[in-house]
Amino acid sequence: MGLFGGKPDVKKGDMVYAWTSDADIAKKAECGGAVTSLLKYALEQKIVDAVIAVGKGQDIYDAVPVLVTDPKQLKDTAGSLHCGTLLLAKVAQKFMERSKGMKVAMTVKGCDVMALHELAKRKKIDLNNLLLIGVNCGGTVSPVMARKMIREKFGVDPDTVHKEEIDKGQFIIEYEGGHKGIKIDDLEDGGYGRRSNCRRCLYKVPRQADLACGNWGVIGDKAGKATFVEVCSEKGADLLARAVKDGALKTEKPDPKGLEMRGKVEGAMIKLGEKWRKRDFEALSKDLWGTIQKETSRCIKCYSCIENCPVCFPSSGALKAKDLVVKPGEVPPNPMFHLRRFAHISDSCVNCGQCEELCAMDIPLAKFSHAIRVEADMAFEPKLGKPGYTN
Ligand code: FAD
Ligand code: SF4
Ligand code: SF4
Repeated sequence: MGLFGGKPDVKKGDMVYAWTSDADIAKKAECGGAVTSLLKYALEQKIVDAVIAVGKGQDIYDAVPVLVTDPKQLKDTAGSLHCGTLLLAKVAQKFMERSKGMKVAMTVKGCDVMALHELAKRKKIDLNNLLLIGVNCGGTVSPVMARKMIREKFGVDPDTVHKEEIDKGQFIIEYEGGHKGIKIDDLEDGGYGRRSNCRRCLYKVPRQADLACGNWGVIGDKAGKATFVEVCSEKGADLLARAVKDGALKTEKPDPKGLEMRGKVEGAMIKLGEKWRKRDFEALSKDLWGTIQKETSRCIKCYSCIENCPVCFPSSGALKAKDLVVKPGEVPPNPMFHLRRFAHISDSCVNCGQCEELCAMDIPLAKFSHAIRVEADMAFEPKLGKPGYTN
């Protein structure tokens, strides 16, 4: 019996093309609208009490977390925002801390899933209360970089852009007066493009979620109109089976050529991530500690990196002055302010990039903590450094 009752006729490991039966969702969705329809179905059927997804704020560069309890509002969260660099894991943790026992469905990228698992290990969140609809993720571009890149490389005023997408290795924009695409490799070789943590990320298909949804592998007449769904758990199988049975979604078998293509693209993205790791870490290894000291000398001790890290939970108890490792009131703080955090998270940094993205002084913190994490893995569990390892 599946978690949500009923006998599932879909099983873990199944893959389907899926598309919504809801015309409003279809209009706004990135591909087939399967993600939004599944979230809506889960809310309508009271499988969950709330949904956490991402919506557009002021413009396409402003992605905001959205809490939805009315299924009719879910259509507003459809579509992908590639300049949305949010991590929903800590948002969910804070919400669920205050709403004990509530069941929540979420859209999650690979880094969200990894962060949620780390939070569960620390007993900060109960995964049994979560329904995770994963989205494949090729990476995100920070809003500041996106605006700069569109102005300087595309020669377009970023305020005239109403849609962006990443497709077939290109960053594509639609703006008043046309559309343009530039290869991501070319953008990144020129110092533009995805966030540095996303370039190094190897977790492209979030198989620790209940379902992993994406556009890779959808070819033929369904290209752009269906979502590729991989079933990753019994919970996911049950949800998909029920949604299809009740007519919220339509499905068909994927094209075998599409399946093969999806595998190849995923493999190519992992190889690209490994290339970026080599490039970033080799440069850093020449003088890791010296670089950390130099870069962190700009720190204004705003605590954003600590506050936003999904695996860092400093002691909440009041410490006596004599027990403090870092003297209060000093800016920049003693390097131990940073080294202590790196040591604290060295076995569990998920490379989500939030510390770096939200640092007031643009210190490349994620690169440091990721390098330390990978180095520690290689020392203690060398197999983790090999291809296929996803963190
Ligand atoms: P929809 O029904 O349109 O729902 C999309 C869901 O994604 C909504 O719940 C929305 O709130 C949420 N969302 C939007 N922006 C974000 C964000 N920044 N972070 C978290 N959630 C968000 N698929 C691939 O196959 N290959 C890729 O390389 C790839 N890269 C992606 C990168 C990003 C940043 C995102 C958000 C998605 C990416 N996807 C990728 C997934 C793809 O774009 C679609 O989300 C997926 O195919 C589901 O389509 P849909 O029509 O069913 O989704
Ligand atoms: Fe996507 Fe990975 Fe970047 Fe997270 S770290 S946004 S999963 S590419
Ligand atoms: Fe210092 Fe940046 Fe962390 Fe703020 S976010 S405390 S400036 S390193």
